[in-house]
Amino acid sequence: MSATIDLSDATARPRPAAASEPAAAKRSLLGLSREDMGAALIEAGIPAKQAKMRVQQLWHWLYVRGVSDFGQMANVSKDLRAALDEQFEIRRPEIVEEQISVDGTRKWLFRFPSRGAGRPVEIETVYIPEEGRGTLCVSSQVGCTLTCTFCHTGTQRLVRNLEPSEIVGQVLTARERLGDFPDASTPQGAIVPSDGRLVSNVVMMGMGEPLYNYDNVKSALSVVSDGDGLALSKRRITLSTSGVVPMIPKTGEEMGVMLAISLHAVTDELRDVLVPINKKYPIKELMDACRAYPGLSNARRITFEYVMLKGVNDSLADARELVRLLKGIPAKINLIPFNPWPGSPYECSDWEQIERFAELVNQAGYASPIRTPRGRDIFAACGQLKSESERMKRGDRLALEAAVAV
Ligand code: SAH
Ligand code: SF4
Repeated sequence: MSATIDLSDATARPRPAAASEPAAAKRSLLGLSREDMGAALIEAGIPAKQAKMRVQQLWHWLYVRGVSDFGQMANVSKDLRAALDEQFEIRRPEIVEEQISVDGTRKWLFRFPSRGAGRPVEIETVYIPEEGRGTLCVSSQVGCTLTCTFCHTGTQRLVRNLEPSEIVGQVLTARERLGDFPDASTPQGAIVPSDGRLVSNVVMMGMGEPLYNYDNVKSALSVVSDGDGLALSKRRITLSTSGVVPMIPKTGEEMGVMLAISLHAVTDELRDVLVPINKKYPIKELMDACRAYPGLSNARRITFEYVMLKGVNDSLADARELVRLLKGIPAKINLIPFNPWPGSPYECSDWEQIERFAELVNQAGYASPIRTPRGRDIFAACGQLKSESERMKRGDRLALEAAVAV
């Protein structure tokens, strides 16, 4: 059983502008660096010598206190609040739907306004509570240009990159819904970690290839990791890539976050099919980039993701080759049971086979937890994320409703 919360009741929560409204002309302050925010304020007429202090105030309200309305910024004068409101926005995504699994996993369908001539767009964000941590799986693009054959997002064309404000907005809205801000309270009955921050980890493992939206992801993650911003340690932020090799060194040098690689196959022949970007950047180049990843150590390992596809990549010979490939790289292996979606061309490996595979890589010294599927009843697992329009098109709306009704 799972629950879907209908957020269409305007009295339940102040709703941001409806999707049909014209595109907002105001510039978002979310996701801007301090320098860019300062410059934007000066451009808007705020005296240059005040700018630094104003940026500090705004960061505190936006990221520490989690306000979404200039009116709530108590130590900012009324006139200035009105002036800011006239020129800027701090609006977060519209929540189209919030689904809660029996296991506490939450999935949000978020809508962002159109940019230029485009239409409003929708993406999904997932929250996974566990003992001692709460992980938020964040999207970087609407759809994906890559076409990994086991991934539902890969069947959707790229609509557009998400802006820094939209990436940061996912984190802010999730924290707001969970009551993860100082003056907020957590909804009754919500499954969340028993202590510490409710969103303690961020993984760029939602929709899209983050390294094909490099600048925006970098700006957003620098706000997420900033001590006076959302203040998550870089050790608790993981960027997952299908293997955009030329961007990997830069990611380590400039972002300094943890890296995950969607490996999924140990031969170029198979990886060319499963993860087609492999034709451009084959396994050897990918492994060389991993070996050279800045800051790599036993305490800062690269995670290699490996989806278990029955009869395709799950033999013990594959497991041995995997161990051989990773030799010399401080690594963790994450075995992901394949999550099917309507029309998907693969099956998940048998559980016994996944365990045998895991045992072999464990024996070689790789901690390789099998990632237990979470949020199954709400289709919240890796590779199942999609936009609402896509869901309607693909006809799995019915399956979803059936799951909700159980
Ligand atoms: N584009 C990036 C990040 C998003 S995908 C990337 O590919 O790494 C996040 C993870 O989910 C990746 O490891 C991806 O390969 C995996 N994944 C995609 N579809 C899946 C599915 N149907 N079942 C299990 N894992 C899947
Ligand atoms: Fe895109 Fe990642 Fe899905 Fe491949 S696995 S299609 S890169 S989102």
